[in-house]
Order: sequence, then structure tokens, then C-alpha cells
Amino acid sequence: MSTPFQLLLPRQIYDEMVAQAQSEFPNECCGLLAGRIVEGAGRVEVRYPLVNELASPVEYQAAAEGLFRAAKDMRARGIQELAVYHSHPTSAPVPSPADLARNFLGEEVVYLIIGLGDAEPQVRGWWLGATGYREAGWEIID
Ligand SMILES: [Zn+2]
Repeated sequence: MSTPFQLLLPRQIYDEMVAQAQSEFPNECCGLLAGRIVEGAGRVEVRYPLVNELASPVEYQAAAEGLFRAAKDMRARGIQELAVYHSHPTSAPVPSPADLARNFLGEEVVYLIIGLGDAEPQVRGWWLGATGYREAGWEIID
């Protein structure tokens, strides 16, 4: 298991991620965040919005084409995947049983969930393990 890091998310990328979740409402959105880990801090540099090919309000699956494009671009830039994100259009930003069941990346990346069930969007980050989940440390930076 890799050492968890503190995720640093530039405000503009945070705002764009939340805007994507709102624009794809009532369906779930998804995407990746990539950057570099330096001294325990994972600073996000690039956001890769992905297409939810299920176009569903209760589940998501990233279309393969966008995943391949993101992987290629990350290699070219010399950056790594730091977080995956998706939205919960009507429920709390807490991992669902389906999120835990399809957790194939392990504790390598932060799972950010954008909850749109309240008046204001709520974002929380999680480390998902084989037996459960725990809150991840992350912050917005200017
Ligand atoms: Zn979910």
C-alpha cells in the first residue's frame, strides 16, 4: 500500500469539477485529477473530465476512450493519477455500496464525491480500502 498523501486542489480545478457535476445533473459525472506528489502533498495540475457512458443518476462508468486519452496525456506530462471523482446527484457525498464494490484502484488515489443533494454542493474525499473507507485529507489552494 502506498503512503497516503494530502490532496491539494487548485480552486479553479475545484470550481470546474463542481460545475461539471452540476451541468451533468441529474446524471452522475466522473473524471480524473492528476499531478505530482512532493513531500507528502499531492498537488493537482490537470483535470480530465470523463464521459459517464451509463448516463445514469445512480451509477457511473468512465468511457474507455477518455481513460486512454488521459493516461497518454499523463505519461507525456510526467504526472500521475491522484484522484478520481464522481457526483451523487441526490445523495450525500459518501461512498455507496456500489462505489465500494467497484473499487479496483485500492488506496492509491483519493475518491472525491460531489454531493448535489443539498442547496450547496458538498465535496468530500475518501480512501477506499478492501474492507471499508475513511475520510481523506484534502484542501483547496489558491
Ligand atoms: Zn458513488
